Amino acid sequence: MNITFFSIFPELLKNSLEYSLIKKAVKKNIINVNYIDIRDYSKNKHKKVDDYPYSGGPGMLLKPEPLFDAIDKNTTKKTKVYYMSPKGQLLNQERVKNISKNKDIAIIAGHYEGIDQRVVDGKVDEVISIGDYILTGGELPALVLADAVVRLIPGVLGNKFSHEEDSHENNLLEHPQYTRPYEFKGRKVPNILLSGNHEKIGRWKRFKSIELTLKNRPDLIKNRENFFCEYKELKKEFE
Ligand code: SAH
Repeated sequence: MNITFFSIFPELLKNSLEYSLIKKAVKKNIINVNYIDIRDYSKNKHKKVDDYPYSGGPGMLLKPEPLFDAIDKNTTKKTKVYYMSPKGQLLNQERVKNISKNKDIAIIAGHYEGIDQRVVDGKVDEVISIGDYILTGGELPALVLADAVVRLIPGVLGNKFSHEEDSHENNLLEHPQYTRPYEFKGRKVPNILLSGNHEKIGRWKRFKSIELTLKNRPDLIKNRENFFCEYKELKKEFE
């Protein structure tokens, strides 16, 4: 996969990725990453890329010309272009999965009050929000999207099955997990995990997943009635 970032702070992206699995994926030639500085496409002698919004209002907007030029020169017709914005559709694991199927993606990080709407209308395939809160810039959201997408590409995670039990993979949160030591500050690992009975362990994990999802994220559970029935049955077995 080719990932092209568009930002006025490409160094921020580059430096953060030094510590991520994305760097490993680049080394393994699984992905290729480009960092485009939007300022390099400003025709203004001071490299200005922002301007006041029409009709007033607070703050500045990224101007359309440098972004159009930057995108035209660094993408092809096949590139899927994403703009990170709180005005977008909420990112979730299903969206991440769909995005990870592309060969070429571009991610635009906005700044100030955002970008001129004509860039969104003319160049962007999807606007994506990472949550219902406002950050000062799109670099962190761009990194969030890239990280979530890259870890799904085959060969990136050590064990190719290691994401299948993750939270959100089946609209459920992941069950609790334990490592050594068996007893720590008086707290023991649940005995079921040492039982060797894999079928029963599977049911316990599902029980704990449903329990946690009902507690923390009941909004994720679509087929409530079925889940409640299953949960009651599992509760009888494990409590
Ligand atoms: N005025 C805008 C907010 C701009 S925040 C509004 O009200 O919608 C500045 C930049 O930060 C945005 O262009 C975007 O790229 C990024 N950003 C801020 N919060 C974000 C979020 N929740 N998800 C994705 N990008 C976000």
